[in-house]
Amino acid sequence: SGSTDSDRTPVRVDSQDSQVSDTETVTDGGLGASAAGNRWPRQSSLSMREWDIPFDELKIGELIGSGRFGAVYRGQWHGDVAVKVLDVNYLKDEKTLEQFKNEVSTFRKTRHENLILFMGACMKPPQLAIVTSLSKGMTLYTHIHLRKDKFNMTKTKNVAQQISQGMGYLHAKGIVHKDLKSKNIFVENGKVVITDFGLFSITKLCFGNRKSDSLGIPPGWLCYLAPEIMRSLQAHNPHDVELPFSKASDVYAFGTVWYELLCGEWPFKGQPPEAVIWQVGKGMKQPLANLQASRDVKDILMLCWSFRPGDRPDFIRLHNIMDKLPKKRLERSPSHPIHLSRSAES
Ligand code: ADP
Ligand code: MG
Repeated sequence: SGSTDSDRTPVRVDSQDSQVSDTETVTDGGLGASAAGNRWPRQSSLSMREWDIPFDELKIGELIGSGRFGAVYRGQWHGDVAVKVLDVNYLKDEKTLEQFKNEVSTFRKTRHENLILFMGACMKPPQLAIVTSLSKGMTLYTHIHLRKDKFNMTKTKNVAQQISQGMGYLHAKGIVHKDLKSKNIFVENGKVVITDFGLFSITKLCFGNRKSDSLGIPPGWLCYLAPEIMRSLQAHNPHDVELPFSKASDVYAFGTVWYELLCGEWPFKGQPPEAVIWQVGKGMKQPLANLQASRDVKDILMLCWSFRPGDRPDFIRLHNIMDKLPKKRLERSPSHPIHLSRSAES
């Protein structure tokens, strides 16, 4: 309210959090050099949104890896960045591009310690890329499944609580992650950073370019999917259907991450996708009899993996539950009796 008109720049600022749907040509007073008839008018600096990055300003470096919807490169843009370059073949049509822009517009609204920093995006086809801070740490996936690092309970609780905080923030902002998994969680000097939230709808459209099994399901993905999603996979072709992701399905996925932290492996390890889909869709869970952990630790799993979405706790409650995990039982010690969990099959 202390702002005066002179504080306001002539540069267009996105009106609040409105979804971006235009090609941002502003009344440009003759400055915008848009070529007549060009669907993608050249954007003058005055007509750019504050998070648009001209592709030529990005220095693309080595390939870090490729995921479901394109390749991730190390890059330079005012320092080290990660550049997610999208496979434009899957974003050819207007509708898909629109969807991409909408997803990016949710991405840019986030500011939280435990979420990757969104820096901007290149939005001019054929160059479509998302630019974020570069994580120097390793993913939880690398720690747990490749390096076989063991997380004691203190560290498990610490990591899980940071995930809950980042996720609680996302949910408060109305953003469903849709792809929470150990590959999308970085740990850097003990600090947790979550990536790839809200991008799933685009990734889904890019299934075709990845190695996947007969059902068109990318490997290492199934065990994070809640029963309601499994059931919709059973009923439909995953390419056609809007899967019922929700805050509660994110909580289910968190349960799987909690299991990975505790066990060092994924639930339903080694089982074929059809079997996993069938079991989870029926409400069966990974048995916990061999898991050496206290009752309260296993209860968190059972809560997150509840069959009915409404029975799953939210991240604020999860954070509180983890806070109350008794200190003296945090370290697994052979002198402690193993608490038998209630039946995993419910
Ligand atoms: P996935 O999440 O399934 O591994 P992605 O396309 O998201 O697939 O990532 C591809 C690779 O790039 C992975 O090895 C991932 O760890 C890495 N990566 C993604 N984002 C970043 C980032 N911001 N900083 C560093 N590495 C990243
Ligand atoms: Mg990822």
